[in-house]
Amino acid sequence: MSDLAQLVSYDDAVARYEPVIGLETHVELGTTTKMFCGCRTTFGLDPNTAVCPVCLGLPGSLPVANRAAIEYTIRIGLALNCSIASWCRFARKNYFYPDMPKDFQISQYDEPLCIDGFLEVTVEGQVFRIGIERVHLEEDTGKSLHVGGATGRIHGADYSLVDYNRAGIPLVEVVTKPVTGTGALAPVVARAYVTELRDLLRSLGVSDVRMEEGSLRCDVNTSLAPVGAAEWGTRSETKNVNSLRSVERAVRSEIERQAGVLDAGQRVVQETRHFHENDGTTTSGRSKEEAQDYRYFPEPDLVPVAPDADWVESIRAALPELPAARRARLQAEWGLSDQDMAALLNIGALDLVGETVAAGASPADARKWWLGELAMHANKAGVELPDLAVTPAQVARVAELVHSGALNDKLARQVLEGVVAGEGSPDEVVAARGLAVVSDDGALTEAVDAAIAANPEIAAKIREGKVAAAGALVGAVMKATRGQADAGRARELILQRLT
Ligand SMILES: [Zn+2]
Repeated sequence: MSDLAQLVSYDDAVARYEPVIGLETHVELGTTTKMFCGCRTTFGLDPNTAVCPVCLGLPGSLPVANRAAIEYTIRIGLALNCSIASWCRFARKNYFYPDMPKDFQISQYDEPLCIDGFLEVTVEGQVFRIGIERVHLEEDTGKSLHVGGATGRIHGADYSLVDYNRAGIPLVEVVTKPVTGTGALAPVVARAYVTELRDLLRSLGVSDVRMEEGSLRCDVNTSLAPVGAAEWGTRSETKNVNSLRSVERAVRSEIERQAGVLDAGQRVVQETRHFHENDGTTTSGRSKEEAQDYRYFPEPDLVPVAPDADWVESIRAALPELPAARRARLQAEWGLSDQDMAALLNIGALDLVGETVAAGASPADARKWWLGELAMHANKAGVELPDLAVTPAQVARVAELVHSGALNDKLARQVLEGVVAGEGSPDEVVAARGLAVVSDDGALTEAVDAAIAANPEIAAKIREGKVAAAGALVGAVMKATRGQADAGRARELILQRLT
């Protein structure tokens, strides 16, 4: 019934209802072997070639926990400001699914490895501290492939295939606390959180965090309550959202749908929902299980995990510079205002500017070219800035040519245009287009003399000591050389001749 309720426009929905969101993110760890056996974790192998009795759940096989996976999980927990349990256990989560050969998943239940942390994100100048409820370790399931039928789902399929290569790959689940107080920004905050988490995980070196390959997957919980209500609404859970953009769209779509359900006087059903990439909407999945449905109990085949305090501290000491700290450091080093930094991040130019500076350009030059000329080219071509056909080293070379006086800004823009258009390196474009600044005195002197001859009144003023008038003659020289003259040298020559 609820799917038949009218959608409400987004602005209207958030004017009257307060969203609460929650995010459960699954991350496949980049260990070389699986969680409880020695099978390879390589992506894209032939189906069922990375399996053994343990990850196939054959009778009598026994799991052994992967130490690297536990270390990675602690690393994630520490980076998310969590407390690390000194003693915890794995638990069996019992349910049947064809891609889960044991009929239970080894997970963690009431004793997660990491608890009670936070991650901060900045949206539109506002800092949101997203509470982290828990970070726990489990094993991934296999993968079902439904053949035939239009949607790739089991409904309408002719037959299904199962690949157990993924079964048993270590999986970390990061669960947020309910996120309140975001109002109309809820979808953007959700996206900013997953983006920040992805960048954090990448900097920790624990996962390749490729959303398109499924190594980072997100379940998005959304609920609505009337503004000012004492209690939160019933939440829906949109499963396996596979891109940053989709995270934002899924929250937005659920806000519009649930507002319609509530407006119609109906109740939001607690259920899982599927997200559809094509139109950005969700449809009903299954009614949500409660924890008790899984009959959790401590895994009897594994010893408890009791990370030594010294080990945890050594992991903490070895944490790399995290993205937020790196951003703050670069902003200070480059002398950028908050606004400049936000502009740079919005356009995805942080690493590009960093690499351009590393290649020898000044931060001001690197920022100027990427945010100005090159952003304009990316925008015109409809591509992201990093996909533009110009490298940070090439931008640094253009900045160097400007500094040495070989190019002025106008010519540099033409050089970058040529590089982006695939005409070659900056030096090749300069040569091919004949763009070098004219600073050899022979050619310049000719232009200077012509300008003086053509403007006798201005020349007379300069002779009388009104040096400021030289600007007009420099302008005439620039015009005559179609912008290729070295303006500084032209001015020197004019003053030499007239004073
Ligand atoms: Zn195995």
